[in-house]
Amino acid sequence: MSYAARPGGAPMGTGMRQPAVEYICADCSAVNEIRPREPIRCRECGHRIMYKKRTKHMLHFEAR
Ligand SMILES: [Zn+2]
Repeated sequence: MSYAARPGGAPMGTGMRQPAVEYICADCSAVNEIRPREPIRCRECGHRIMYKKRTKHMLHFEAR
């Protein structure tokens, strides 16, 4: 069961060269560098739910 049913992905804010942001996959915890203009998707498992690595809130994620 997944309640992640977000239709489309409207990019907020266009233009400006922004550096890639590191995202952590919510499924396999793989670190992916994704640019703001690119769709968020894990390159390891293809999961589309990812967390920002640069965040004050440390999401405790133990895959054990
Ligand atoms: Zn993944």
